[in-house]
Amino acid sequence: MIRRFITLIALLCAVATTVRAQELSALARYEPTRSAIAREGGATRISLGISQPVPFRAYLLADPYRLVIDFREVNFGSNPPAALIRKGGAIKDLRWGRFRPGWSRMVAELSGPMELASAEERTGASPEIRLLLKPVPAAQFRPREGAADSALWDLPQPAAVDRPHRRQDGTRPLRIVLDPGHGGIDPGAEDGGVHEADIVLGFARQLRDALRRAGMSVVMTRDQDVFVPLETRVTVARAAAADLFVSLHADSIAEGRATGATVYRLADHAENEATRKLVQRHDRDDLLAGVDLNGQGDQVAHVLVDLARRETQPRSVRLAQVLAGAIKGEGLHMHKHPVQGANFSVLKSPDIPSVLVELGFLSSPADRKRLADPDWRARMAEAITRGIERWAQSDAAEGRLLRQ
Ligand SMILES: [Zn+2]
Repeated sequence: MIRRFITLIALLCAVATTVRAQELSALARYEPTRSAIAREGGATRISLGISQPVPFRAYLLADPYRLVIDFREVNFGSNPPAALIRKGGAIKDLRWGRFRPGWSRMVAELSGPMELASAEERTGASPEIRLLLKPVPAAQFRPREGAADSALWDLPQPAAVDRPHRRQDGTRPLRIVLDPGHGGIDPGAEDGGVHEADIVLGFARQLRDALRRAGMSVVMTRDQDVFVPLETRVTVARAAAADLFVSLHADSIAEGRATGATVYRLADHAENEATRKLVQRHDRDDLLAGVDLNGQGDQVAHVLVDLARRETQPRSVRLAQVLAGAIKGEGLHMHKHPVQGANFSVLKSPDIPSVLVELGFLSSPADRKRLADPDWRARMAEAITRGIERWAQSDAAEGRLLRQ
């Protein structure tokens, strides 16, 4: 058996092209028993066992220091690589999952500046991706240039929009963008063996069907377990000329004993501590997945942002209130503060009324039970549908008045 080593020394970006896509029969599997993160002198060796060789590339990003590995799709199964992390080692945190259809990504948060001394793929009987990281002074750290763009490949680019689109007036079906939070490399909150990304996707599909039955048109920011950057979620809403945007989450909260549904709209005042942490975590998830948030907001550069927001913000506030009222009216459990302000990035469209619904908290066993209950989910989907209908009617009436 010939063992080939593809050694790519000290490079920031490499695509192992020796394995042609057509040779690959099925999805490669991650093999935990042949994987390790180990010290090698002062360096750190990452070995990832896979069932068959895959094209891959590895590179570094800064703020925070990260190693990103992109592969042709790898199935990480039920023995995730987080088990490889050793306390006090060079790898502080590890994320993995589908990045976009056909591609997986693993992101390792590093304890400090390092260089990628080698990146190689061992083919043959025991395929393996082997990386060697060596600490370097901060001045010698070489992140991949232009990574913010190229790391995303051909994900949709922010739409160029010249002016706010025409407000809905009830003369055509309402266009709703549903945004199931997280996905792929970003599983969201996890508690009691349940992942937020799965829960909210399942619920979003159910809600989509309910909204369509009520005659509305629905676009989803994702309909599979893939990663979608926050900015792209906003872009999807703009490209669809959405009348409203509803992001769906079911987070975990360490502070206090949060239970029940909460409807968030963009904050016009200071957020409370728990909310601030929730918002920070969502932006951080994006950052860890290799997305630079500095470009956030570019897509609206030509829009008269403030002007548009002055009209949109009260509409978002009403949407949040009407939704909370509808959920409460259905007798579904709500948080003690059912409507809150928060600076979630996905709520920042200046001319599309936007809300984020925390369906419940995975950190609460009672909420977890509700989220898994088909009857509860159906009632929640109906309540949100009725709330949106109610809001749309009064919003259209106000729009007609304003135009006169
Ligand atoms: Zn979330």
